[in-house]
Amino acid sequence: MSAIIINGKEYAAALAERQAERCGELRRRGVEPCLAVIMVGENPASAVYVRNKERACAKIGIASRTITLPEDCTQEELHARIDALNADPAVHGVLVQLPLPARLDESAAQLRVKAEKDVDGFHALNAGKLMQGIPAMLPCTPKGVLFMLKNAGVPLDGADAVVVGRSNIVGKPMSLLLLRENCTVTVCHSHTRDLAEITRRADVLVAAIGRPRYITADMVKPGAAVIDVGINRVDGKLCGDVDFERVQETAGWITPVPGGVGPMTVAMLMENTLEAACRA
Ligand code: NDP
Repeated sequence: MSAIIINGKEYAAALAERQAERCGELRRRGVEPCLAVIMVGENPASAVYVRNKERACAKIGIASRTITLPEDCTQEELHARIDALNADPAVHGVLVQLPLPARLDESAAQLRVKAEKDVDGFHALNAGKLMQGIPAMLPCTPKGVLFMLKNAGVPLDGADAVVVGRSNIVGKPMSLLLLRENCTVTVCHSHTRDLAEITRRADVLVAAIGRPRYITADMVKPGAAVIDVGINRVDGKLCGDVDFERVQETAGWITPVPGGVGPMTVAMLMENTLEAACRA
């Protein structure tokens, strides 16, 4: 039996309709939701991501501002731009597009964004709130994954969940969100011994590794929900961290790459921007 494909693109499209309505409602009340993105230099991959965000904003009716700073800008100049957007009441979400050039301090830039406008959910205050179970701006990718799991009807309460990857933007917040849903969570990383033995126990398996097709069918419990966060390029084509073709034969649910977690990440960024505009 083959797995149910969790189609992130379809979920994101349905969400966009509802978000457009909410945005219209806010505009009628005199609030024009606005997302500002700061980009440093001309990283081609970042430029594509920023364009996708602008398109998503335009579709929903969110105003977007993109500020491109020169490659050689200083940390102080970057912070001055962030400060100006923090202070601007017409801007509800502020995002610093990563990666920054190596000589700039990414964590310092992220901490500089006002927590209320931190629509990426990367600020330490928001991360701390998530850890303590206080309502917070949640990081978009894990938030999108949880949305997909819930909407696909994957049972979470009491489930064994395994998250492969422990980054601050995906793995760690993902594990906290699953814990909040009463999963029994195991977090794996590059030092984990016998990864396959652990992943085979997972009812819910989230792969956020960044290695093409690393999770193979023999590592997956039959009937498990397999969420593939990875975005890798092999011979010019996108693929995830999961061997989709083989794993879909045994999994209960699976997300494709592209068309799975990626569109949901952008959808959750729109959601966070609308939430920030509502609160403002
Ligand atoms: P990071 O590189 O920050 O983290 C990767 C994690 O994978 C680390 O915790 C690392 O362990 C772990 N890891 C690496 N190799 C192995 C291994 N052999 N076995 C077990 N664990 C391993 O990546 P991100 O979390 O930022 O992103 C992960 C992937 O998700 C990337 O492909 C990225 O492009 C993609 N991504 C996709 C998004 C989307 O919207 N779909 C959004 C964000 C990211 P250790 O900590 O020990 O080094």
